[in-house]
Amino acid sequence: MRHPMKEPQIYCPQCKWRPAAEDRWSCVPSCGTSWNTFWTGGVCPGCGIRWEKTQCPACGKLSPHKDWYHWPDGSEPANEATQEDLASVKIGAD
Ligand SMILES: [Zn+2]
Ligand SMILES: [Zn+2]
Repeated sequence: MRHPMKEPQIYCPQCKWRPAAEDRWSCVPSCGTSWNTFWTGGVCPGCGIRWEKTQCPACGKLSPHKDWYHWPDGSEPANEATQEDLASVKIGAD
């Protein structure tokens, strides 16, 4: 059940909204490029500026770009484990 590779879960640290591949962020007011900021680690491909903070399209709040990355067994206490536990309980109860 565990992922063999360690990859971060990417979601908004404020509301847990998850960006999809087709989501785009705009480099404003700098160059206006639209791109997926998680493909470049917050760096605009148009002008090369690094955005230290990333705005969530869902809740509209700005969070440090690195805070969007949630590592499975990183330093943060994982509270996403409860979600998986609840899911397996539901499956098992059926
Ligand atoms: Zn730019
Ligand atoms: Zn959010």
